[in-house]
Amino acid sequence: MFFDATLWSWPWRRSAPARAAGCEKVPNQPCCVSCDQNVGAHLVLDLGARVFAARSAFQAIEVYATRAFGNVLLIDGDLQLTARDEAYYHEMMVHVPLARSPRPAGAPARVLVVGGGDGGCAREALRWPNVTVTLVDIDAAVLDAARRFFPRTAAGLDDPRTTVVVGDGAAFAAAAAARGERYDLVVCDSTDCSSRERASGTLYTDAFLRNVKALVGETGSFVRNYTSLLWNLDEAAATLPRYAAAFGAVAPYAWQQPTYSSGSYSALLCGAGAAAPLADADAVAAELGDLALGDLSYWTPAVHAAAFALPAHVGRALFPRPRCPRATT
Ligand code: SAM
Repeated sequence: MFFDATLWSWPWRRSAPARAAGCEKVPNQPCCVSCDQNVGAHLVLDLGARVFAARSAFQAIEVYATRAFGNVLLIDGDLQLTARDEAYYHEMMVHVPLARSPRPAGAPARVLVVGGGDGGCAREALRWPNVTVTLVDIDAAVLDAARRFFPRTAAGLDDPRTTVVVGDGAAFAAAAAARGERYDLVVCDSTDCSSRERASGTLYTDAFLRNVKALVGETGSFVRNYTSLLWNLDEAAATLPRYAAAFGAVAPYAWQQPTYSSGSYSALLCGAGAAAPLADADAVAAELGDLALGDLSYWTPAVHAAAFALPAHVGRALFPRPRCPRATT
């Protein structure tokens, strides 16, 4: 079939490289553009020297050594992470769902990371006690590049508590669901689905969501990297109902991510953790108790709680009030 109707259109965010254009301000330097073609706005970085380039069976992988953000990873020209601010993203992707755990304190937790081949989500999950991680990324070349150029991020990959699988995350989820496996948390940390040919296309299908729902059951949560709610609100509003249909409860939350388009990014929490998100700093701190997660860069109980506070127009667009039929008499 030419086009899988269940493959969502996801044409936004940092979708195309525009390295040559728009670089007049940084003469003689290649620039990375965290680019949003729908919006027509771009973030331009002085990329410095390209220190790595490879084309795998799935995508083009590049690493640049930047002055402002340290090493920067691009996939298909699309900014994935920078050494300087990756912790904001990975901490928010993982600690927000893990802080609301249905488990008794200290009980083992199984975390499945789909994508996330840089290792950052695994690293953060492993800060929690008794966590084991299964990480499924389609591209071994990303894992290799992460180990070589982002060793602090990639630390989670080679931890003995992590099992790394190289393969399609959607196929893995289907097979695991068929085997009756369960996870307390599934994190989808994937590239955008900016075209149907992209490897990540399988991770934007209803079939994937159904299988993830089977993996987390009624007590677990799913979180996925979502979009900029400031620049891509229409698309977020269009896709949110599909997650709500698959998981029941959904709770988007946002934080500052300076190197993603608009400087703000969000994740979508689904399932048990979204039914009653911890939107109060004292409640987050109470949930944490004596547990110390170590030196974090970004996440705190207060940041966690604030992340669920949506700007007025974002809240209206994502959760429109049902219209009451007007009384006719
Ligand atoms: N934080 C980044 C962002 O939001 O742009 C995502 C970074 S992570 C490097 C994205 C990973 O998704 C890549 O390593 C890519 O290989 C992986 N990926 C893409 N499609 C996949 C699929 N179908 N199954 C598993 N991993 C996939």
